[in-house]
Amino acid sequence: MCILKHIWLLFSKAGSIWVAWVHEYLIKGRSFWTLSIPADASWGWRKILKLQYMVKGLIQHIPGDGTNIYIWHDYWHLSGPLIDAYGMASNKISSIVQIQMHLFDMFPKEGEKDMVIWRPSNFGNFKVGQTWNWLKRKKTRKVWHRLIWFSQAIPKHSFISWLAILNRLSTKAQQRKWTPSIVDTCVLCNNEPETIEHLFFKCSYTQKIWKTLSAMAGIPLTNSWQGLLHWMGKKVSRKSLQNTLVKLAWNAAMYHTWRERNKRIHQKHFKADDEIVYEVQFDVRCKILGFARPKSSPLPMDIAKQWGLEDVVKE
Ligand SMILES: [Zn+2]
Repeated sequence: MCILKHIWLLFSKAGSIWVAWVHEYLIKGRSFWTLSIPADASWGWRKILKLQYMVKGLIQHIPGDGTNIYIWHDYWHLSGPLIDAYGMASNKISSIVQIQMHLFDMFPKEGEKDMVIWRPSNFGNFKVGQTWNWLKRKKTRKVWHRLIWFSQAIPKHSFISWLAILNRLSTKAQQRKWTPSIVDTCVLCNNEPETIEHLFFKCSYTQKIWKTLSAMAGIPLTNSWQGLLHWMGKKVSRKSLQNTLVKLAWNAAMYHTWRERNKRIHQKHFKADDEIVYEVQFDVRCKILGFARPKSSPLPMDIAKQWGLEDVVKE
């Protein structure tokens, strides 16, 4: 916990002598998140660098003039650190356009200082108790890992579900805690505040998607997102092609819902709920056709038909 606090100080307390020394001699003008552990690192510095991955999603930047924020590695964009959301290797003009659209909403704010917040705490400052509770919650949620990280998972889909379950996606309700002027209405229904539970479950738009997908994959309708997660966490622990399909469909729906939400905000591009269902069906079908062998673990015919996977149940 003490080490976490030291990392927080590196980002928040430019005035302290220790922080100034670390920046001058160890960080040397680079992004903290890119530092590797030097062979001659002291015990303390080694401990700090070992926690980089764990802390990365906990420190968020609210851009002012942007002079203290690293574009690829810091968490300032709605989608999280850009290196994780877009990836350096697959840089495409389309990604840059999406990033740029968001930048237009934020800049210029000349003379305004960048802010940094500690996400597990209610008011953005490091608090031991609240951080401890956040980490504990994270531990108990590990039960959902098998729903997200499985061998046939589509990594970019799983990444969004993972951030959603850990409540680390920057929803409007979340942003409003730090920037009260933000209008937090959900862009999918224009009706309710955009929280994780609303966006991925309660929203009238998302509900239509779930209703269709539930019928297609044989998932019962539940009355809460937690209830749905609970059912899936238990059900999908057993290995079968149908359970893999359920997991793939759920993760794909999470991903395409979040993508649709971002497109509406940044590109003013709207898709109907049945188009999202089609995208989910397409991704799941392609993935399953890529690894399933006929009769290896057949799907019930009614489900196979819904997903265009009749070949998988044939001899
Ligand atoms: Zn909504």
